Amino acid sequence: MKNKTFKMGGVHWDDHKIAKDAAIEQFPIPAKVAISMAQHLGAPATPCVEKGDRVKVGQVIGTPTGFMSGFVHSSVSGTVTAVEPRADIVGNMVMHVCIDVEGDEFAEGIFNTDRIEREIKGSAESLLEKIKNAGIVGMGGATFPTHIKLAPPREKKAECLIINGVECEPYVTADDRLMREHPHEVVLGARIMARVLGVETIVIAIEENKPEAFDAISDATLRYVGIDVVMMKKKYPQGGEKQLIDAITGLRVPSGALPIDTGCVVQNVATSYAVYQAVQKNRPLIDRIMTVTGECLPQPRNFRVRIGTPISAILDAVGGLPKEAVKVVSGGPMMGKSVANLEATTLKGSSCLLLLTAEQTARQPETPCIRCAKCSQACPMGLEPWLLNRLGRAGDNAALEENRIYDCIECGCCQSTCPAHIPLLDIVRTGKADVMKIIRARAKK
Ligand code: SF4
Ligand code: SF4
Repeated sequence: MKNKTFKMGGVHWDDHKIAKDAAIEQFPIPAKVAISMAQHLGAPATPCVEKGDRVKVGQVIGTPTGFMSGFVHSSVSGTVTAVEPRADIVGNMVMHVCIDVEGDEFAEGIFNTDRIEREIKGSAESLLEKIKNAGIVGMGGATFPTHIKLAPPREKKAECLIINGVECEPYVTADDRLMREHPHEVVLGARIMARVLGVETIVIAIEENKPEAFDAISDATLRYVGIDVVMMKKKYPQGGEKQLIDAITGLRVPSGALPIDTGCVVQNVATSYAVYQAVQKNRPLIDRIMTVTGECLPQPRNFRVRIGTPISAILDAVGGLPKEAVKVVSGGPMMGKSVANLEATTLKGSSCLLLLTAEQTARQPETPCIRCAKCSQACPMGLEPWLLNRLGRAGDNAALEENRIYDCIECGCCQSTCPAHIPLLDIVRTGKADVMKIIRARAKK
């Protein structure tokens, strides 16, 4: 049988998974951490500790600010030295809780062991409450609070839980290593989420460039019924929610609709692992697997990093920033963000640090559009990037909205295929931000 993939657009390219054979290493606990209160989509958490307080690992240090928000926990034990705004990776000022580390004392009730706990106890409601209290967010990068996604409105019934082990961004191998080294925990996390949602069907999707992960997860599912492990064709951006639902079910999420409108809920494998930890070990989200990679690094690695670790400390641990590296990206090369501040710290959504050379980041001079339509063929959302580019440059927001710029998932497929080297993603992203502002202002009236 042919491996599955989504129908519209997408690109195939060298995946540069050069860290895939590097086993997960425990990153040393840093001397100081700064933990951001803005680690999830929605309102930042409100700090609930003060300078001078002593905290333990797993203790709540930030509480949700409203419905779309989440808990934040201390990833270390020590003394709070400041609660203050600090620059994040892109330079935005965000409230952080800064802690000087002393020892590694876990809060009471957390089982910090590797023993696999298979028996899932408790009602759907109590499991959901544990997930909420553990501060879990979508760890594929979206950082949508997981407890909200697992509680769809009554009129929208979930039929299928899709676990996203696609990891289609080049270079990133954190999910691959997690599936290879912790398959039982990932599968148990999926079973917990299925119980919360009340669904009988779980599909775990893994791209064909991760055969070891596919085998490990397949073995871990043998003792259960109702879990399909599906091998996916390698294609970017298959990890996008809408693309994955299309690939697995053949259903398209209509423009303006939500994934749940197709009866599907998509959760990342790292989220699944975090759910297992929260429910079976009472362990909130305090660390994550992170790839540190790039051809200019002598040894690409995968680390388990405490949240709030300075990026500079991670770069020091891999031998410092190589002299060839001119750019550090948080995330993959397609959807990651350029790091403007190396003193910024890791977040729940930090899957990768990618170091790029001048040659890898060089932009070719832009030439006029030759109307080849390659960008339209590559767009997985069925948009016309060449047209959005023209309208964006003209500042015609009404026409941009008419042409559904709000559906753009900022995947960069258009830009990467353009033979005229037009910065399509940059122009479309700016146009989308302007149009979204207008749409939000209209909705408030
Ligand atoms: S960045 Fe937007 S316009 Fe370009 S291919 Fe992706 S979805 Fe389409
Ligand atoms: S790929 Fe580039 S050159 Fe071709 S139609 Fe699109 S914008 Fe024009």
